[in-house]
Amino acid sequence: MTRARILSGMQASGLLHIGNYHGALENWVKLQDEYECFYFIADWHALTTLFNEPGKVREYTREIAIDFLACGLDPEKSTIFIQSDVLQHAELCIILGMITPVPWLERVPSYKDKKKELAGKDLSSHGFLGYPVLQAADIAIYRAAYVPVGEDQLPHLELTREIVRRFNHLYGDTLVEPKEIVTKTAVLPGLDGRKMSKSYDNAVYLSDDDETVRKKFKNAITDPQRQRRKDPGRPEVCNIHTYHKIYSTKDRLAEIEEQCRTAGIGCVDCKQELIDRFFERFADIRQRRKQLSDDPVQVRKILDAGAERAREIAEETMKLVRRAASMGWNP
Ligand code: SF4
Repeated sequence: MTRARILSGMQASGLLHIGNYHGALENWVKLQDEYECFYFIADWHALTTLFNEPGKVREYTREIAIDFLACGLDPEKSTIFIQSDVLQHAELCIILGMITPVPWLERVPSYKDKKKELAGKDLSSHGFLGYPVLQAADIAIYRAAYVPVGEDQLPHLELTREIVRRFNHLYGDTLVEPKEIVTKTAVLPGLDGRKMSKSYDNAVYLSDDDETVRKKFKNAITDPQRQRRKDPGRPEVCNIHTYHKIYSTKDRLAEIEEQCRTAGIGCVDCKQELIDRFFERFADIRQRRKQLSDDPVQVRKILDAGAERAREIAEETMKLVRRAASMGWNP
């Protein structure tokens, strides 16, 4: 039975954190058994914000590849590759760029949000504005039926659909309009309560060593009104409580809530318990991560095989696209 194809990627603009894991990767692992999955590391996209720090893009690309595999993306089930290893993405991006009106790009909400979030960075490039065109090419090149997205990414996917529709309207039915698979996961807050993000320096990374993880959780902000051990706490405003929701059992969570409100547990102990649960949950992933870090050649081989498979499909699409858009000439 042919399985529907899905595609998703992570931008190589930072290390992956536990918010990325619970918000996307964990779900991607499950999707592998149901769909024909293409998962890629978007290194060209990373250049939109890191164009003047290219060494970092390479470092993040390597680390994300290790994260993908350590977290359970399986090269036997999925096609796992680096975006820049498949040049057809760029070729399709050029063609889609010719038919995409600039106002469509300017109205994408994340364009303004990102400019605000990364204030101080030079984001005046053609590539940054055109980011959704490359994203449309990433998806359309595989004629993917579905894209797993968080709700915040829906406008991006809608734009991909509009670009695909325009292409098909101009040149005839060639590309596939992708549908969304919305991932319903709670957004994990950062250690300071804001959105977990590299820019806010409030994230726990999948690649953090044991000591760093402990230190980060120990320094996390809890209920600011709980100044002393005997003060009752408010778990509903505490980040550590939010993490316990993921890593502790339901029964234990209920006890923690009760003990917090009655000052039956101190924040130091509550954090230590969370650290223990975290290490239990990530034990296998962290062990695989270590093995893969020690064997970069093996990781590269997996990415090479993934890129080869991705190129085959991408080239099939480009043959159709070139013909439809009247590219090239033969007597
Ligand atoms: S006891 Fe736990 S849940 Fe309550 S405020 Fe402290 S860290 Fe947060």
